[in-house]
Amino acid sequence: MQCTNSACCKIEVVLSREEYNKFVALGYGSHVEKETDLFIKKNPEYEKRREFIDNLYRDEYARLLKDQSGMCVLIGENTLCSIYEDRPIACREYETTRCEKIRCIPTQ
Ligand code: SF4
Repeated sequence: MQCTNSACCKIEVVLSREEYNKFVALGYGSHVEKETDLFIKKNPEYEKRREFIDNLYRDEYARLLKDQSGMCVLIGENTLCSIYEDRPIACREYETTRCEKIRCIPTQ
């Protein structure tokens, strides 16, 4: 089964620092944004305390980016999750009966 483009992929997908590091190592770094970067963008006076801020966001370290329609940027042109095997824990644990009907299609 593979995920397809659905309402589920509009949820806010948050990654821990450990998961973020794994994501970057897999080459998906450009698809996530770090909470520290967002915070410092809004509060540039904290730039010198970046490491401290980074530690504060350890458990909710980064989030997946969304496109203009609010869908996850990792949905491929075929409307399937383009990183299905490597998808974040939040995506793996997200379950609704709607997913069973809409989000999953049989694979070979
Ligand atoms: S990583 Fe895949 S399953 Fe998770 S929100 Fe993005 S497209 Fe959906």
